[in-house]
Amino acid sequence: MINPNSNRTIFNISKEVYEQKISKSEGVNQLVEELNFNRGSAQMIIGQIFPRLLDGEKFTRTLNIDLFDSFLKFIQEDYGNERLIKSLNALKMHIDYIKQKGDSKIGLRKVYQRYIDNLNLDEDFSREDEEEQEEISDYLKKNKTKKDLLNELDKAENDDSEKVTVNHRQYKRNNKIIALIKILRNFECQICGYYVKKRNGGKYIEAAHIRPKHKQGPEKPENILLLCPNHHKEFDFGELTIKNHTNENIEFHLNGELYNLSLKLE
Ligand SMILES: [Zn+2]
Repeated sequence: MINPNSNRTIFNISKEVYEQKISKSEGVNQLVEELNFNRGSAQMIIGQIFPRLLDGEKFTRTLNIDLFDSFLKFIQEDYGNERLIKSLNALKMHIDYIKQKGDSKIGLRKVYQRYIDNLNLDEDFSREDEEEQEEISDYLKKNKTKKDLLNELDKAENDDSEKVTVNHRQYKRNNKIIALIKILRNFECQICGYYVKKRNGGKYIEAAHIRPKHKQGPEKPENILLLCPNHHKEFDFGELTIKNHTNENIEFHLNGELYNLSLKLE
């Protein structure tokens, strides 16, 4: 019913009302006259969905997925990431609400998740990366000696292409590096030795960046600590003071405890 090219116009009219540049009834009339909206839908967007989305509040009426997607995009363009995060909170509440009404709206969840992923709210974890790392390590574990793994790591670190080929498939180079570090460190937390046992018999461990990716922390063993989920969160959110950090080891205080961890792989 709604032409995607008119999504910007719908957004702009709703925005003018939201910013009180035109009245609510003027906005509704424009949607009805310019875009052939039925009055009820126009009132629902302008009166409920749009302002609540922008203010991070729950709304109950729904829109088509494409229009939500466009709205999020324009919110980010016009108002920035902080506002986008607020809108994503509102959308999450909406998704939870309609789910409880029996409508799963998988497409809308995907749109939501895509914006969350792009915002890098948890830059050390994406399910897609985790799956790639598992595939790479499953293959390399079976086929390589330790010396080969170290050579592979060296090669991957000194390659500057975005993608690499493992077992005839293309992967992000960073995921190959992390997979190799995980194998070489035996998938164990460098603080406590714990790992999560997976249903499929594999081991789950997380890679924490000492210097975060958004601060240009490199994807290299000297910048990566393997940590169990608890220690990873403690590392990210706890009181952390790094006392000494070289290519060989790192010494830091974390919530009052002193740790000295090796960063060497051999
Ligand atoms: Zn741990």
